[in-house]
Amino acid sequence: MAIDLRSDTVTRPSPGMREAISSAAVGDDVYGDDPTVNSLEERVASMFGKEAGVFTPTGSLANQLGIRMLVNPGEELLAETNSHIVRAELGAAAVFSGITTRTWPARNGLLKAADALEIARPNSGPYLVSTTAIAVENTHNFGGGTVQPISEIASLKKGADDLGLALHLDGARIWNAHIASGIALAEYGKYFDTVSVCLSKGLGAPVGSVLLSTKARIDKARVWRKRYGAGMRQIGLLAAAGHYALDNNLGRLSEDHRRAKELAIAIHAIDASLITPDEVHTNIVGLDLSQLPISASELATRCREKGLWISALGPTYARLVTHLDFDDAQCAEAIEILKVALVAQ
Ligand SMILES: *Cc1c(COP(=O)(O)O)cnc(C)c1O
Repeated sequence: MAIDLRSDTVTRPSPGMREAISSAAVGDDVYGDDPTVNSLEERVASMFGKEAGVFTPTGSLANQLGIRMLVNPGEELLAETNSHIVRAELGAAAVFSGITTRTWPARNGLLKAADALEIARPNSGPYLVSTTAIAVENTHNFGGGTVQPISEIASLKKGADDLGLALHLDGARIWNAHIASGIALAEYGKYFDTVSVCLSKGLGAPVGSVLLSTKARIDKARVWRKRYGAGMRQIGLLAAAGHYALDNNLGRLSEDHRRAKELAIAIHAIDASLITPDEVHTNIVGLDLSQLPISASELATRCREKGLWISALGPTYARLVTHLDFDDAQCAEAIEILKVALVAQ
């Protein structure tokens, strides 16, 4: 069987999770009748110290509903250049919400509050687009699983308050940040007006994200979710997988982080220009092939021929992501495959 490190979304529900799905109590969630969805929304909201939550089929929808609650049509959201909201949601903020974005670049996606605050232009009157919100991605996906420093988040919050700007957290992998940093989820939650979290990344559920905020915003987001065509019925089946994931798969993320670090150290030993192990904070191993004679897609092809699937996300950027269906034996095997693929010219 191939070792698939393209993403942490490739995991398959375990027998225990399938059991939880099959025995879930359900109801019609459009009527608010599904007890398993309701309890999941309440559970996740309380983990982050938020009043309410709304279940969504994807993290992209949770992000889009969140920023829609903060930014009016014709106003501006600031985000990092390689953030998921800007690069991987296919222009949804513009298409559905009339939101424009302006970006600041950051090495490895690492947040520096000043970078964002410097380009903010609130209340720009009739001349320029007015900034109304800033998005932070934690961990930063295309930045290589970077954990954002809580000190920078705190100073961004202070600066945003001074300017009257709202903050959105794209917390698709906030679970990884929490496990890596030891910082409480509620501590992360307190700085942001809206928070999106994914159950289908490292936590291993087949589907599901939750948007968190005040009760008033979540009531409104629920209307927009239905308008977008994502009002769903007996989805306690999916929420049960989310509960199971929170019960069983949160603490074990540290194993994914350990294996990612092992991969990084082994790859660094093959060629130090590919990666700096200290910059691997969580479960994402991003490789810079700019000093090598092969492209990222060539490396991905070579690995795939040997049974290791990795992503080529740019001409010289490849990505490996560890997850709950990847164990120590596969980690050792992946390292052997990478040695051969990287050394052969
Ligand atoms: C995966 C991801 C999302 C959501 O992706 P979906 O595929 O829409 O569930 C959002 N933000 C980040 C940073 C992600 O990595």
